[in-house]
Amino acid sequence: SSDQHQTDEPVTTICPYCGVGCGIQVQQGDDPGDVQFMPWGDAPVNEGRICIKGGAATEVVDHEDRLTDPLIKDDSGEFREATWDECYEFIVDELERIRAAYGPDAVGFFGSSKTMNEENYLLQKIARRYGTNNVDNCTRMCHASTVWALRTSLGAGAMTNSMADLRAETDVFWIQGANPGEQHPIANSQYFRQAVLDGATVIQVDPHANKTTRSFQIDETDRHMHLQLNPGTDVPLLNIVLKTVLENDWIDDEFIAERTEGFEHLRETLAEFDKAAAAEECGVPLADIELAAEKYATAENAAIFTGMGMSQHRCGVDNVQNEINLALITGNLGRPGTGVNPLRGQNNVQGTCDVGAMPNVLPGYQLVDDDEARERVEEEWGFDIPDEPGLTNVEISHEFGDGIRGLYVMGENPIMSEPDANRVAERMEELEFMVVQDIFPTETAEYADVILPATTWAERGGTVTNTDRRVQRMRGVERVHENTKHDLEILSEVGTRLFGAAGFDFDTPEAVFEELRQVCPSYHGMTYDLLGEEGLHWPCYELGDEGDPYLYEEDFDTESGLGHIEGVSHTPPAETPDEDYPLILTTGRLEEHYNTGTMSRRSSTLNRQTPENFVDVHPADAERYGIEDGQAVTLTSRRGEITVEAKVTDDTKEGVVWTTPHFAAASANKLTNDVLDDRAKIPEYKAAAAEIEVALES
Ligand code: SF4
Repeated sequence: SSDQHQTDEPVTTICPYCGVGCGIQVQQGDDPGDVQFMPWGDAPVNEGRICIKGGAATEVVDHEDRLTDPLIKDDSGEFREATWDECYEFIVDELERIRAAYGPDAVGFFGSSKTMNEENYLLQKIARRYGTNNVDNCTRMCHASTVWALRTSLGAGAMTNSMADLRAETDVFWIQGANPGEQHPIANSQYFRQAVLDGATVIQVDPHANKTTRSFQIDETDRHMHLQLNPGTDVPLLNIVLKTVLENDWIDDEFIAERTEGFEHLRETLAEFDKAAAAEECGVPLADIELAAEKYATAENAAIFTGMGMSQHRCGVDNVQNEINLALITGNLGRPGTGVNPLRGQNNVQGTCDVGAMPNVLPGYQLVDDDEARERVEEEWGFDIPDEPGLTNVEISHEFGDGIRGLYVMGENPIMSEPDANRVAERMEELEFMVVQDIFPTETAEYADVILPATTWAERGGTVTNTDRRVQRMRGVERVHENTKHDLEILSEVGTRLFGAAGFDFDTPEAVFEELRQVCPSYHGMTYDLLGEEGLHWPCYELGDEGDPYLYEEDFDTESGLGHIEGVSHTPPAETPDEDYPLILTTGRLEEHYNTGTMSRRSSTLNRQTPENFVDVHPADAERYGIEDGQAVTLTSRRGEITVEAKVTDDTKEGVVWTTPHFAAASANKLTNDVLDDRAKIPEYKAAAAEIEVALES
């Protein structure tokens, strides 16, 4: 196809790791496995710069662990090589059997934020043609609550602004529960840092000091601030900020009157709110929070950045709503340099949601239970779509062996990415049938009945959508292993065989994109040609639209056209410290690793930096427990235990321990709590009760 490598020239593509969407080049030598990284000096987002992950991304393409042939698990539980044909038949037979026995809602489909728009589009179309809306992706774990709050209160579940306008115009960056210094290194260095060099102020709200703190030397100047709050106290902290803004009349009356609704509700919610008591609960001096409020509210342009420290709580929607409240009452929306901006995790987590790989929405966030929207898509697709929202991925996982009998996993690793991982593993044993389509034998693949070997990001073409809604093309070099297939080829074959119908057989990613744009209004004005090398920011409704670098200049995309303010009250984490588990465990990621580590742990450059998990322990806690820096400790919660090295550091607060989910043997998710936010169904990864002790063997 036109997306494949035809010459010895390097191809321009997009980094497979984070949502910043940096452009890179990939060069293939005479040996197909010789795939090298090259910078792309004109890349639109990063202008040639990359972080350690982007530079090491090609290391996994020809890694010795690559899955190179399809595998079927035989009766003894061992995997044996199989032909593609055999696998397809097995998959079709099993999916048909399960549907006949239990109905279509007995199967779940997991899309992947690591795969492209076209692939996720086709996967969700297969799920819906099969007869279920049980299709989801890992956005559920990272920003489901953010998307919920932004969509209902402003209109679109995405960054309101773009990195470029923020760099040029922002005076105050309010970064809460996000760590761009570590997780979005190029956004941090190329955009935010540039603004800071030009005089912008950073206010970081995070229980943990990290590379963001250090990159701006936040703790060492009077200009910037780090509010190091207790995990799970974001609502009270923002309520202090909001009440301070109201008390000092730092509100934007005109904006509130003309562009918002619900202001009175916020006023009422805060009327009896006790700032001093709340500051105590947050563990931050009241005067510091008031000063931060003043810096934000009196700035000409202030922008909020929000990350998983906000979203991954059972009150995740409330957390983000309170950020929206702050932006709306101060008029910090609808113009350059402002907004509420989620920093999205994976390179295509935005796009995977945009194209409808979610249980409640079709492509373009059209609700499955909106009859008019659904019927429009049905007309295009030529079949009926179930009209009730399906289950989210954690709900699907909770139903393994009960309501859910079969699972199709494309490029995800739920056994490590979901909370309370030990229970996920137990339940996964109960599935009657599971397909895993991936590039490596993941921890999840061990439980599969069929493993389909896919090609990597560097070997295929398609589009991905980055954190500021920029849709960009990826281009591939030749396949490294002959018997692997592109995700799109696999899905085309599965869909065509399963339904014996047209509508699933696509030769190229471009052909899928052409269909996608017919059913996804915000992508309708894009074509592969128009995307070119620069990409386009959605919304792009008609051919020729330039795309919007910032949203809501005139109206919000809500029914009333107004931005929705709603006061929220504190919901503490589901588990708080007690006698048995007296510490609060919180989690975060590292710059050199990526989520469940399927790729990053196999990259020698990345793995060298941090080969094993560890836990940050405050010096006062270390003394109390007799823990020395570097010693092995056992960290336990009600759900499991891991043994890791202790790092004694005041990066964390007293009473709070901090660890990561990246490492299979000692993943934080063996400990995390799978309680969900009621509305967005995101798990509470960021707060659990825990205990620590010196490990027996040390
Ligand atoms: Fe890749 Fe993100 Fe690093 Fe850019 S900042 S090179 S997109 S991991």
